Amino acid sequence: MTRQTASAARVQKMESAFKCPLCESKVRVTGFKSLICSGNHSFDFSKHGYLNLSARPSGSKYTKELFEARRKIIAESSLYASMHEAIAGVIKGHRSGSGDAYTVADLGCGEGSHLHRILEECGSPGIAGVGLDLSKEGIIMASKSYEGPVWMVADLARTPLADQSLNVVLNILSPSNYKEFKRIVVHDGLVIKVVPRSGYLKELREALYGGKENKRDRSDETAALFRKHFVLSDVVHLSYTQQLNQAELGNIVRMTPLAWSGNKALIDGYVNRNSAEITVELDIWIGVNKREAEKHG
Ligand SMILES: [Zn+2]
Repeated sequence: MTRQTASAARVQKMESAFKCPLCESKVRVTGFKSLICSGNHSFDFSKHGYLNLSARPSGSKYTKELFEARRKIIAESSLYASMHEAIAGVIKGHRSGSGDAYTVADLGCGEGSHLHRILEECGSPGIAGVGLDLSKEGIIMASKSYEGPVWMVADLARTPLADQSLNVVLNILSPSNYKEFKRIVVHDGLVIKVVPRSGYLKELREALYGGKENKRDRSDETAALFRKHFVLSDVVHLSYTQQLNQAELGNIVRMTPLAWSGNKALIDGYVNRNSAEITVELDIWIGVNKREAEKHG
């Protein structure tokens, strides 16, 4: 079976979870080749199995080099291992109280490594994974690297996902669209959002900006907005430092957009060290999607 056919078969099994990004009508898989809506909009599965369902051009400033570096850090180093384990633990606990079909989508998945690692940690073949990102470059890499999930180029503000089609939305260090998340997650489903705290990659920022960076911590405002949409059932705090070797230092610089505007000499000085410590400080918000009437009473 080719990747194209295998991916089409996976999408076919969960057709009702998707809708046409252009006219919002129902879609079906035809000939293991395309996804077609009842209004005849047609989207072909690529050779590597992903679908491009973006209603607008999917150019992004994120390059292949950035995604390659990101994949190496997430999938090959243990920098985010604690986060993957914590999220997988939450999903496993939630899943034990639900029925057979269970879908986890990562919205803003980039090159897909977080979703891949989290599903791996869940260790459950019965969980369907969906990864969405507006960056075609990211989704191409995801579909080449990881065969299990369904990969789609799509707009977060207009996802090709049907109402209440997901059990869990993951949103990891990536912009949110809470209104859309609320629409696509089932009642009592989860929205798991990972946000950086002030110490996140602080050594990198200090090295790149010579300690002059003055970034306002907006996490309280962001948390209030999250709680407007979802019932916050838990917050997991992660805080640790880890030693990175020279190759990993290079990758962490390449995967970080903040480095692009940094001082070239400072960046070289940082990358050329033999090793350095890096801090990971993250909050994992676990929100439950309640009906409005249930939220306050
Ligand atoms: Zn359509």
